Parts: sequence; C-alpha cells; structure tokens
Amino acid sequence: MVKRSEKAKTMRKLIKAIWIFNWFNSCGFAELVPVVGSRWDMERFGMIIVGTPRHADVLFIAGYQTHKSIERAKRIYEQMAEPRVIIALGSCTMTGGMYWDSYNTIKKLDDYLPVTMYIPGCPPRPEAVFEACEKIFEHVKELE
Ligand code: SF4
Repeated sequence: MVKRSEKAKTMRKLIKAIWIFNWFNSCGFAELVPVVGSRWDMERFGMIIVGTPRHADVLFIAGYQTHKSIERAKRIYEQMAEPRVIIALGSCTMTGGMYWDSYNTIKKLDDYLPVTMYIPGCPPRPEAVFEACEKIFEHVKELE
C-alpha cells in the first residue's frame, strides 16, 4: 500500500472546499450575509457558494419554512449528489420562530428533511457558522 506523503496530504487539505447551496426564507437571508462579507470572508476557509444544488455538498436552510416552501427545499435536496449534508440556521428552523403558532409554518425542519446540524441563534453568530462548517469538514474526512 502506498502511503500519501505529508506534502500530498497538505495539498489535499488546501484544495478541499465545501460547496454550499442556500435556501433562505424571510430574514433568514440576513443570517449568512456577515459570513460572506469581507469581515468574516468564508471563502478563505474553502466555503464556496454555488449556483446549483447539483454541485453542492452542503445545503444551508434558514428562516421559517412554510408548507409551500418546504416542498421546494425537498426538491433542492433531491437534486444534490451524495454525500450531502443539511445545516439548518437559526431558531426558526428549530421551532418555527416568531410564527410558531401559524397554521402554515413548519415547526421542526427534521420532520421533513434529514438535518445534520442545527446552528442556534436569532440570527446565529458567524463564529457558530464557522464551527459548524469545521465539523462538516471533519465529517467529510470520516466519509473518505
Ligand atoms: S432565526 Fe431570527 S434571523 Fe433567522 S429567520 Fe428566524 S427570525 Fe429571522
């Protein structure tokens, strides 16, 4: 068996990126804006937003979901290749948020989709998003 050299291992780490597709409703969109912007700049950690779920490893879902929007989220998830991961951001994905008592709001996302990780907060801190993504990097290494 050929062992990978240290240099090859380092290169592999450097080229490994997590491609992300977003499904954000309502003010959920604002949850990722600071992380994408120049202050936190998530791309320096290899976290790249892509334009189609067919290229994505991770699906970020934020904002309260309705019975109508959850059908779109399911369709997006079905288009992603394995291995795929869902990270749910914010309190709304856990409880329905401020619209928890609405007839049309989803209370708990993992009743509908296999959520790998929830990031709490309203909105979550950028540090929490980075910590979640670090865990996803580790998870991907375990899958290899
Ligand atoms: S958790 Fe807060 S910031 Fe996020 S979508 Fe819900 S109300 Fe908006």
